[in-house]
Amino acid sequence: MSTPRVVVEPPRFDRPEVEIRASSRRTKTGAAHWSGSRIIVQIPARLRGRERAAFVEDLVSRLLAQRPQHAASDADLMARCRDLGARYFEGLVPHAVRWSASQRMRWASCSPATREIRVSSRLRSSPAWVLDAVLVHELAHLLEADHSARFRALADRYPRQRDAALYLEGYALGLGLAGEADAIEGEG
Ligand SMILES: [Zn+2]
Repeated sequence: MSTPRVVVEPPRFDRPEVEIRASSRRTKTGAAHWSGSRIIVQIPARLRGRERAAFVEDLVSRLLAQRPQHAASDADLMARCRDLGARYFEGLVPHAVRWSASQRMRWASCSPATREIRVSSRLRSSPAWVLDAVLVHELAHLLEADHSARFRALADRYPRQRDAALYLEGYALGLGLAGEADAIEGEG
């Protein structure tokens, strides 16, 4: 019984995929860390049922609360875009990326003419993987202006695009922003 038992819970709208490792060597404390876009939690093997679910939920929500973009600068956004551009678009880099407090904009906007991306400050409180999905969406617009099939194929190179859209739908409802056609952009 010293082997940890591992369970993977699929992503939900409010949290990414979570891998739960139950260890009989842990008695009281847990731990959580990121592994790519998955959260790995380690919990005492003795936990069962509701107690176990609550223990996992607490660890996950505390990790999600440490959202680095709370204090991120425009330069941090650019660094993130460079990483994503290298990973998904063969080194594509925008001319500029900025946080924006514009209330007209829902999540982000992109100007293909100037190659500038603006990101709503509202996304400072969303998880990093959601911010990444939005940035990949905008980077894809540098290659394809319209929401065409080609655009979707480009944006979907980021594997959690659909999860992010669901997350943002829920977030928009929570913010009282409803009824706009596009999940990402709210401004032309
Ligand atoms: Zn778009």
